[in-house]
Amino acid sequence: MWDCIIIGSGPGGLVTTKELLERGVREVVCLEQGKEVGGIYTNAYDNLVLTSSCTYSMFSDFWIGDGKQHEFWTKNEAVDYWKSYAKHFDIEDKIRLNSQVVAVTPQDNKPQDNKGWQVQLASGDILLSKRVALAIGNNSIPSYPQWKDLLTEVEFSHSGGDKYVVMHYLSR
Ligand SMILES: Cc1cc2nc3c(=O)[nH]c(=O)nc-3n(C[C@H](O)[C@H](O)[C@H](O)COP(=O)(O)OP(=O)(O)OC[C@H]3O[C@@H](n4cnc5c(N)ncnc54)[C@H](O)[C@@H]3O)c2cc1C
Repeated sequence: MWDCIIIGSGPGGLVTTKELLERGVREVVCLEQGKEVGGIYTNAYDNLVLTSSCTYSMFSDFWIGDGKQHEFWTKNEAVDYWKSYAKHFDIEDKIRLNSQVVAVTPQDNKPQDNKGWQVQLASGDILLSKRVALAIGNNSIPSYPQWKDLLTEVEFSHSGGDKYVVMHYLSR
């Protein structure tokens, strides 16, 4: 049984994995459905430039921004940073890519008994863990505003499938 399964290898999942290891929680695995680490930026539109500067985008314990703190990363620069972060803190072997989680269920009917969790992958594999950390981001599932049905005069689409964009409207 794992001590902790972390789901997602964006910035949130990477830092959670690193912090658990540093605190002596050794039996951890980070499950990522994509083929690389870096979270939402690995699947964003090509000309994405972050709106937060390096100062706010970097972690304080992996500062690589002397002279760059007022710059804004492209999505590739952001992904490179997160990959470097995983390498620097030696957590790459804790990350399993191409591992989509399809179900997380408590081991019994009373989660408060803390008998652990069953984590099922799309491959059919089942892992057991004492704890689960969800780091799946808040942009993984396409979300529409409640008023979208009022938009009768414009055509709109959601690009949450291949390339994440918030939402764009196409004039008729
Ligand atoms: C277009 C765009 C621009 C943005 N620009 C900025 C910015 O400039 N500055 C800023 O601070 N924030 C920005 N954000 C917000 C950004 O999402 C977060 O800063 C950051 O990515 C959050 O990291 P995270 O690890 O929580 O989630 P994410 O980066 O979303 O990572 C979640 C990971 O979980 C994985 N995952 C999801 N479900 C499963 C599953 N079932 N099984 C396995 N793996 C799963 C995903 O594949 C993904 O790799 C932007 C977001 C978008 C969409």
